[in-house]
Amino acid sequence: SRCENRAVAAGDTLFELELTGTDVNVSGPSGNALEQAIRVAFDQGMHARPAAAFAAVLRAFNVAATVTLQGRSANALSMVAVMSLGIKQGDRIELSVFGPEAGAAMDAALAFFANEASHHDAGQEKKPVAVPAKPVNGVLQAVIASRGFAVGKAYPLKPQAFDVREQGSGVDRELASLRVALDKLKAHLIAQRDESTDQHQDIVSAHIEMVQDPVLNERSERLVGQGKSAAFAWMQASAEVVTALLAMDNEYMKARIADFRDIEQNMLKALFGMDLSAKRALPEQCILIIDELLPSQLMSLDSRRISGICSSGGGPSAHAAIIAASMGIPFLVAAGPDVHGIAEGNMLILDAESGCLHLDVDAADWQAAMDRLERERARTSADSASALLPAVTQDGSTVHVFANLGGASEADNALAMGAQGCGLLRTEFLFMDRQNAPTEEEQYRVYGDIALRMPDMPLTIRTMDIGGDKPIAYLPLPKEENPALGLRGLRTSLWRDQLFIDQLRAMLRLPQPNQLRILLPMVNDLGDVESARRYIDQCAKELALTSLPAVGIMIETPASALLVDQLLEKVDFVSIGSNDLSQYVLAIDRGHPELASKLDALHPAVLRLIKQVAEKCRYAGKKVSLCGGLASDPAAVPLLLGMDVLELSVVPALIPRIKRLIRQLHLPACRELATHALQQADAASVRRLASEFILKAEQGEPT
Ligand code: PEP
Ligand code: MG
Repeated sequence: SRCENRAVAAGDTLFELELTGTDVNVSGPSGNALEQAIRVAFDQGMHARPAAAFAAVLRAFNVAATVTLQGRSANALSMVAVMSLGIKQGDRIELSVFGPEAGAAMDAALAFFANEASHHDAGQEKKPVAVPAKPVNGVLQAVIASRGFAVGKAYPLKPQAFDVREQGSGVDRELASLRVALDKLKAHLIAQRDESTDQHQDIVSAHIEMVQDPVLNERSERLVGQGKSAAFAWMQASAEVVTALLAMDNEYMKARIADFRDIEQNMLKALFGMDLSAKRALPEQCILIIDELLPSQLMSLDSRRISGICSSGGGPSAHAAIIAASMGIPFLVAAGPDVHGIAEGNMLILDAESGCLHLDVDAADWQAAMDRLERERARTSADSASALLPAVTQDGSTVHVFANLGGASEADNALAMGAQGCGLLRTEFLFMDRQNAPTEEEQYRVYGDIALRMPDMPLTIRTMDIGGDKPIAYLPLPKEENPALGLRGLRTSLWRDQLFIDQLRAMLRLPQPNQLRILLPMVNDLGDVESARRYIDQCAKELALTSLPAVGIMIETPASALLVDQLLEKVDFVSIGSNDLSQYVLAIDRGHPELASKLDALHPAVLRLIKQVAEKCRYAGKKVSLCGGLASDPAAVPLLLGMDVLELSVVPALIPRIKRLIRQLHLPACRELATHALQQADAASVRRLASEFILKAEQGEPT
């Protein structure tokens, strides 16, 4: 290859293609068959990340495909299979694609190679960021995965050990065991899915897909065919997937490793004849200490006995974190290896509000923690009792408190918590953890279901916010140096517009269009709004609608905040996405564990932009709401009210607390606080001011 080991200049050859066959037209439903020889020009060849990305590119099409290297062929739709060929830089491979979309798939594959070759660091994986591990003064720092505060006795939970032998006892016997265990696991997961009513259901459904993964299955069967035991074969096949995921430069994909490990544990249980639905006994009021929590572990433990969880590894976006949050169990992750030195029965205080695990707990600490717990319990039950009351400030201003939803199953709970509608439906849940995009019909059913559960209330549906830290397998994005600054949100929708059209049609068909508010993510300027509006108008025309629903934009980029006066001429409302707005204003990656404490949306720079946006909205007579994490942060609530943001969209569990706090506030005092806050030098000073203010307000003192 001509461009090895040097920087490329414009016009350089990046890779060479040799046509080895002509298009073979195969008649009938299978469509075309195409073949193409490709010389792999990029560094380190097809290691895990490019193999995964390449397989994902092809899976987006209705095709079958094989890749051949020196006479050895592999399923090109499988990352594991592609990796196993060991394709190196300079190798010449043959790609064969069959099926109705062969042409488009081949184009996409060639584009992939061109794109990959143009990135010289394609083979370099980012090192994971180190997490502070050593306890300082008996306190271990960790990352918050589910908020809360807990006290309890340490209970180290070791993974179940299995005596797995490599050699099988006959191919037929092992194959039969493998299939029986798979069926048993599938049946167990299906029963679990049918019993669950919330987010567990989505997660278990993803596990059902993973268990049936053709690559995992084929690979295990092949190993069994080579004489390995069923257990060994499954572990080996799943280790290959985990290795590939580990090498991917993508935190979301890495978070899926726990899911594969989870499935492996359950497969081993099934293969060793254990009861998959048996619950493991735990001591009362314990704090689980664990390497990495697997989603099914939470479902197979008696959760009433778990006060909190701390894991040495793991990440805040893993499925286990979502389950823990939905069960209300405080959970700290990435605490480092020192947690394994904690002895069973040690008293611990787990503060998942500030990200600390206290190890040296004396009697006075324990008592203080128990008192805090008692106060918080009393406050939570009082808040729940008044959840359905309106949120009106002391001086009579009404604030609307909506729910952020991540799925249809959360709507009922949100209403019980006192939500007055949905301020943000993150539709990504419908697109992720699956092999194909949801159809218009499927989306229509889901949105319709939520609309029915929240009759006559605003339902704000955000168009898919795919890309950035939310990739999807069947929509392969080009490799990007900075995904957060690349194709995400509306940009992705406009780039692959069929998904956008399907989604808009599904929304626009809802029976009560007055209820619907369409929300567009990652907008910068008028051009973005006009492009999106053209699609909305076209879909509405095709559906013969006589009126359009409200259309709004997220204010997530500094550009949209600064241009909001122009944007307001073309939209009906805006919703401030403080999570992204703060990442872009402060130039701190929202997934960066070491800088996490610096990424505080209470930073005066972020607050000044929010104030400008709210002022422009009031001037234009248009609604402004805030749906980022800031609205669920009690310290931010008086500030937001003080800046005239009177619509908040909040995590359902926090709605009662936020509503109660609003009822204790005076708007004029909030305005004064906001003016003061905007003059502070940093987020910590704002937080101090706001916390003191809230303390007084909660105690009924004049503020
Ligand atoms: C935000 O950016 O604040 C927001 C609400 O969107 P998301 O967190 O889904 O990116
Ligand atoms: Mg956002």
